[in-house]
Amino acid sequence: MGSTGSIGTQALDVIARLPDFLQVEVLTAHSQADLLIQQAKKFQPNMVVIGDESRYEYVKEALWNDDVKVFAGARALDDVVRMDCVDIVLAAIVGVAGLSPAYRALESGKCVALANKETLVVAGELMTRAARENGASIIPVDSEHSAIFQSLVGEAHAAVTRLILTASGGPFRGLSREQLQTVTRAEALRHPNWSMGHKVTIDSATMMNKGLEVMEAQWLFSMPLEKISVLVHPQSIVHSLVEFEDGSVKAQLGMPDMRLPIQYALTYPARLDSGLPRLDLTQQSQLTFEKPDTEAFPCLPLAIEAARQGGAHPCVLNAANEVAVGLFLQDRIGFYDIPRIVETALAHAPACKPASVAEHLDIDRQTRQSIIQSYSK
Ligand code: NAD
Ligand code: MG
Repeated sequence: MGSTGSIGTQALDVIARLPDFLQVEVLTAHSQADLLIQQAKKFQPNMVVIGDESRYEYVKEALWNDDVKVFAGARALDDVVRMDCVDIVLAAIVGVAGLSPAYRALESGKCVALANKETLVVAGELMTRAARENGASIIPVDSEHSAIFQSLVGEAHAAVTRLILTASGGPFRGLSREQLQTVTRAEALRHPNWSMGHKVTIDSATMMNKGLEVMEAQWLFSMPLEKISVLVHPQSIVHSLVEFEDGSVKAQLGMPDMRLPIQYALTYPARLDSGLPRLDLTQQSQLTFEKPDTEAFPCLPLAIEAARQGGAHPCVLNAANEVAVGLFLQDRIGFYDIPRIVETALAHAPACKPASVAEHLDIDRQTRQSIIQSYSK
């Protein structure tokens, strides 16, 4: 799901190298019809889904000569993930739009390779319960969580004392609050180590991404928030660490290339040759670590506080952040308007505890509407 995105296209690179191990059954995209068609012609899946229904005829026409079924619309996503031909669902849609199909996949007992961290932020309890109750597994794709997952292989949960998520610090690491007042969209999109979709790139610049990842770790590894910490590591070589009862610390290292965690999630527990450049530590001048600057990057503590509050707070935080990032990408607001919008939305968070996908999506919708209304005045 999300085959035309940054994770989706890299996943297809991985799959193309492992034809005996992985086959594509379904490809889905939101609006990039031409790329979806090109991918379908190359990988010959059973079916494709184009989210934007107005592009249905175009995609269908282009694939009339191929043995590929074409569907359109958000509902089709919920259906295709349940097909018998599907073993693993790579959840690589961006934002809350990926929640319903990822949940349906877990409900039908599929293995979900999860890139779409927002689903766990918004509905972590619901998602992890669906996995437990249906014998489904969630294998992380996010590089930090993949590192933790890899460090935990063979270890007992009770022996873990701390998860340490590393953060690159993004393009604005080291800048003061004052310097950050005037940064632009173009500067925020210039990530030093990773080339990713626009939304996650802006989240990295505000460090909201690390806050979302703390919540993602909380649910993936059933870990209380007090046992999860964040360490800024600008080189993005140490992808994250786990500390154990005896004081030992395990980490996973590698070149910053998402194809590695994507491949591990798709082939787990097997490790296959990835053909990717190897890490040569003699070529790394230094590996450095520092504390995050929570004053300059208030999104990080905002997210952790929303996680502590629980209930509707994480869902509201995510919705407000998605809207605010969208407005920032349209040059309609400044950098610090992002945390301001999120904080205001959280102050009005309903005091309920959403229990179903529909209830989560209702809170998401209400939060978006109230922000959009105030910006259309
Ligand atoms: P992207 O914007 O490059 O791609 C998003 C994909 O989702 C596209 O295929 C798009 O067609 C699809 N999509 C968007 N809106 C949709 C909708 N409403 N309905 C259906 N499909 C929709 O994003 P990305 O960078 O690939 O990130 C995907 C997810 O992976 C995000 O949750 C992100 O946080 C996470 N992630 C990405 C990276 C990375 O390196 N890119 C790393 C870690 C985690
Ligand atoms: Mg990450």
